[in-house]
Amino acid sequence: MTSNVSQNYPYSSETEPARAAAIERLLRERDSLGPKLAAETTPTDANDRWWVWKCPSKGCAGLLHVAGYARDAHALYVVCDGSCAGTYLR
Ligand SMILES: [Zn+2]
Repeated sequence: MTSNVSQNYPYSSETEPARAAAIERLLRERDSLGPKLAAETTPTDANDRWWVWKCPSKGCAGLLHVAGYARDAHALYVVCDGSCAGTYLR
């Protein structure tokens, strides 16, 4: 997991309201995401801007938005807004 975390450079950044809106939208669209985030993440702290990454899945054009901190790892927990609907650590 360590190399997976470090080899991915941010693609862009977004404001806190944009990040929160993206995660809210994904929570509405995906029933399983809420329980998953509750179980696997702790909330983000206050930040004005957040990094955004391109999804690493082949064939997925999605972007990864920060959903919180991973409970069991020193990493950001990110959610893809594209077709793979995956979650990753950054
Ligand atoms: Zn994806």
